[in-house]
Amino acid sequence: MKTKLGLLYGGKSAEHKVSLQTALAVIRALDLEKFEIHPIYINVEGQWIKGPQLLEPVENVQALEFTNAPQLSPLSLAPALFQGDQQESSPLDVIFPLLHGPNGEDGTVQGLLELLNLPYVGNGVLASAAGMDKVAMKNIFAQAGLTQVNYVSFIKSEWAKAKDAAYTRVEEQLGYPCFVKPANLGSSVGISKCTNRTELDAAFAEAFQFDRKVIIEEGVVAREVEIAVLGNDEPECSVAGEIVPKKDFYDYKAKYEDGDTALIIPADISEEEYTEMKEMAVRAFKALDCSGLVRADFFLTKDGKAFINEVNTMPGFTPFSMFPLLWKHSGLEYPQLIERLVQLAQERHAEKQ
Ligand code: ATP
Ligand code: MG
Ligand code: MG
Ligand code: MG
Repeated sequence: MKTKLGLLYGGKSAEHKVSLQTALAVIRALDLEKFEIHPIYINVEGQWIKGPQLLEPVENVQALEFTNAPQLSPLSLAPALFQGDQQESSPLDVIFPLLHGPNGEDGTVQGLLELLNLPYVGNGVLASAAGMDKVAMKNIFAQAGLTQVNYVSFIKSEWAKAKDAAYTRVEEQLGYPCFVKPANLGSSVGISKCTNRTELDAAFAEAFQFDRKVIIEEGVVAREVEIAVLGNDEPECSVAGEIVPKKDFYDYKAKYEDGDTALIIPADISEEEYTEMKEMAVRAFKALDCSGLVRADFFLTKDGKAFINEVNTMPGFTPFSMFPLLWKHSGLEYPQLIERLVQLAQERHAEKQ
């Protein structure tokens, strides 16, 4: 029997377009002998649109937006997912949320899927929420004894009341350069590197446009190395990959617009460095109680010291993104990677019953 796979993509997020590209790639990679593909598109307003079952791969992302179909709130679409509807007599077997950023990668959608008792690919509510909030994540990493750069955080009202006190604290505890980031986001949106107080002031204002909480981190001069983790209770690591941004740092433009950032796989690092980062990646995975997948991002200094920067609970997932490429170089091709993730989702769901 074919697996009825619900693909959830788009999303009310700054990473909407990336998600559409991912959905297109996943659909093209799926074996239609094994899977029934049921698309569910979330538009930028956050309305859910259920498309027809895809009997053949679509040509472009426009074909995945179903502009003429009814737009529903997630709660009004939920019964159709749960009970089946007129066209489909039984519910979906597994949902694959191909969503990045807030309202998708942050535990909200995962919470809905939990309530519907539907198996879904990837991280659960806790890991997704804690992985999205860089402050919560770093506090948990600290508790787990993981090496990371120093950081401080502020909520908007604290900052608005005493800006100079906030800046003094950043300067005393971290110094320059430092990175100011919205606590809950991805794709480098809203992130600035600061080398003085004027830049710091602008960076806080910028980051607070995206979130009510910001994190400020000590800036390190280091290589950027990433490891892909796959599994549930016994997660496995891929080879390591290095990102070499052509700019000052790996910002949004470098990620999605310029396209000239080099990905070096496997990264040219020593066996000891690789072993250490692998161990840290698994420790981070377990500390957040992850499941399915994460991409663990590290800074590696010249003298071989590894700092964990973050984990991404739904990393970029087109065939040209780091996570699938790392697995390809580790012997797992894109279609098999997708099948493995679906299998992991079903295993985890079965354990909960
Ligand atoms: P994504 O989820 O797409 O990986 P993000 O929005 O979660 O990105 P980060 O990975 O935290 O953001 O930071 C984006 C980039 O900014 C990093 O890849 C790195 O180039 C640079 N950067 C971030 N923090 C630091 C730091 N403390 N020191 C030096 N560079 C940093
Ligand atoms: Mg991130
Ligand atoms: Mg991200
Ligand atoms: Mg990152």
